[in-house]
Amino acid sequence: MGGWFRATAGQTDPVTARVQQAVAARIPGAAALGLVPPPGAEAVPASRLADREWTAAVVRGRGGDARVAATVWWYSASAVLLSPPLAGLVAGQPLSARLADTALWLSPAGLPVAAVSSAPAGDLGAELRGSLGAVVAAVASAAGMRPRPLWAIATDSLANGLLALGRAVGDVPGATALAGRVAAAVGPPLPAPRYEDVRGRRFTRRASCCLVDRLPGGSLCTSCPRRPPAERRRLLAAVAVRS
Ligand code: SF4
Repeated sequence: MGGWFRATAGQTDPVTARVQQAVAARIPGAAALGLVPPPGAEAVPASRLADREWTAAVVRGRGGDARVAATVWWYSASAVLLSPPLAGLVAGQPLSARLADTALWLSPAGLPVAAVSSAPAGDLGAELRGSLGAVVAAVASAAGMRPRPLWAIATDSLANGLLALGRAVGDVPGATALAGRVAAAVGPPLPAPRYEDVRGRRFTRRASCCLVDRLPGGSLCTSCPRRPPAERRRLLAAVAVRS
């Protein structure tokens, strides 16, 4: 992984970016978890996400209904944005969640695919509250929607991220146990993350709707919070058996 930390968006110092390199080295499959920038992706400062004009242009560029476009985009972007601080926690080397300390890599389609934090965490709860609050405000403004559903998406990204990291390091109970503590440190309006265990496999019990079924060709989510609980558990059981 020798040089990826140098290809930053300018605000990420090549020396301090080594803190995330050390974290990524401790997490199997770090690249798939958005911790290693892929070749060819465009780097931008994460503070762009909080720029209302930039975010409005991203949402407009995705076309269709602005609320659907913004929601689906935030579902992906929040997962990537949270990846460094959550990985740092799981690795025992907390990384800053400040937008000013973070660089994002975008795919050719404009979706965030990796993030790199360049500094150790300070008050992680306050850092997350500041970063998520700023981006949620920008996305809500861009789509003309309420912030609450976007905070629910952030909670699900938090829960999903820790679950994925737990699977990567072989300690799902340990990683997912962090979710409630992180959310409590962030505080309202971030809802509490939840999990449910089905046939021995842990799943995020979603707080949010991603609106993906409103996209052309979009299908219903297995973990849809609007499904009757018994139906959702039956579908998740099938996933658990297959995995
Ligand atoms: S299936 Fe459920 S979670 Fe998925 S987009 Fe539809 S309502 Fe939202």
